[in-house]
Amino acid sequence: MIKRNDNHRPSIRTRIFISMLALCLVLIVFIWAFEALLLRSVYEIVKTSSSERLAKEISHNVERDDLEGFLEGLGNEYRHDIAIAVFDIDGVPKDIFISDPSIVSDGYFENDARLNEWRALAMESEDLTYKTKLDSELIYVMLAGSGNEGAPTHLIVLNASIDPPPITKMAFNTLLIFMLIFAILISVLMSFVIARNISAPISSMGKKAKSLSLYDYDVKFDEKGPREIEELASALNTAVSELKKLDTTQKELIANISHDLRTPLTLISGYSEVMRDFPEENTPENMQVIIDETARLNSLVNDLLTVSKLQSGAHTIEPKTISLTKAISDTVKRYEKLLEHKEYNIVFEKAGEEIFVNADETRLLQVIYNLINNAINYTGDDKLITVREELLDDVVRVSVIDTGEGISEEDLPLIWDRYYKVDKVHKRAVLGTGLGLSIVKSILLLHGSRFGVSSELGKGSTFWFEFKIQRKEDI
Ligand code: ADP
Repeated sequence: MIKRNDNHRPSIRTRIFISMLALCLVLIVFIWAFEALLLRSVYEIVKTSSSERLAKEISHNVERDDLEGFLEGLGNEYRHDIAIAVFDIDGVPKDIFISDPSIVSDGYFENDARLNEWRALAMESEDLTYKTKLDSELIYVMLAGSGNEGAPTHLIVLNASIDPPPITKMAFNTLLIFMLIFAILISVLMSFVIARNISAPISSMGKKAKSLSLYDYDVKFDEKGPREIEELASALNTAVSELKKLDTTQKELIANISHDLRTPLTLISGYSEVMRDFPEENTPENMQVIIDETARLNSLVNDLLTVSKLQSGAHTIEPKTISLTKAISDTVKRYEKLLEHKEYNIVFEKAGEEIFVNADETRLLQVIYNLINNAINYTGDDKLITVREELLDDVVRVSVIDTGEGISEEDLPLIWDRYYKVDKVHKRAVLGTGLGLSIVKSILLLHGSRFGVSSELGKGSTFWFEFKIQRKEDI
């Protein structure tokens, strides 16, 4: 069931746009608050430090003859809102420079009582300075010059406004409005571009995924766009190709199984009807056909069950130490008896000593059976099958060798698949169920064994698998 789109939910584009806009607004509010709360303090800090520097510079030059020109130059350099006054230590004005008449009122520096107080306060301090704030003004007093015994000879008074001039505030506000407009424009543009890059590929993916859910396995996801989208598209493409493979295999499997089940069933019902209608046809040969076909059906159903259990992971193995040599030897003996009248020659080449391995006996026997069965079915005219057990360091390798047609190189990796037939047109598995090697592979994988096949066209095939040897001391 495909879930309907909930159209009330905002799209990625809207979400990004809103977030970007919110971010810009927060930034702007932040700057605004900064202006309202901090501009004055920052201005004050800057003003104080520049007044200090100015006072220091004047203190080095108080003895100059052209003090007036010097102060004017400095005052202009340090902007307009400042008043500078230099007195000798007794309070007699040496020079007064006022850059902006609105800074101090007439006669401001003629207040002796105040001058005396400031001088006294500066005298008390270690660095001979005194600063104070009066409303929106900063007053910076410094004693300078070196008279007898290093006593100060001059009194410097600076008076600066610490209120940002209205023009500065206006400029700042105008700038802020421009920034606001610019930020909104940028956030609209950015959110549009980002959203396009992200939401467009996602919604195109969504459409394709919908058609995938309707069993269209030919969809291809565009592996373009940001890295995450690219990775998602590539993962989806892999999933699609796996689904496609699975779908094909499943269809083939069902076709093959029905074909294989139908043939023995048709034979059984056909023969039974003939024997019912014509009593003279009730012969042991015809009966045998029914028995054989029933046995085929039986083994087919059993194999199918085993495969599905093994591959669904529902099957676990119960390994214990068993004699591999004895297991093979018993199996070969049973085959010899079965093939007594059919001139097959099954040779068992033992490793010399009896080999023990840790394995699930029933499953291991199934592997040996399936491989020998195949070898019998596909071996050449000499009807020779060799089962070899050889020691390779701490592992034992069992090879089942036949002298048949062999398997071509391109078929070799595929024969382990369920129902894979070298002959592509699925014939009724006259010789086997078509599941033998798939069962072998699943069992060996469960045991963690190495296995493989080598084959030469016209000469025969060798199927092998390996088990770790269990030495007496390991047991
Ligand atoms: P089947 O029941 O058809 O033998 P298997 O799974 O055992 O099914 O084998 C798959 C296919 O591998 C066979 O159909 C056959 O084409 C090929 N094959 C298996 N064993 C041999 C062999 N010993 N020699 C040649 N071909 C083989």
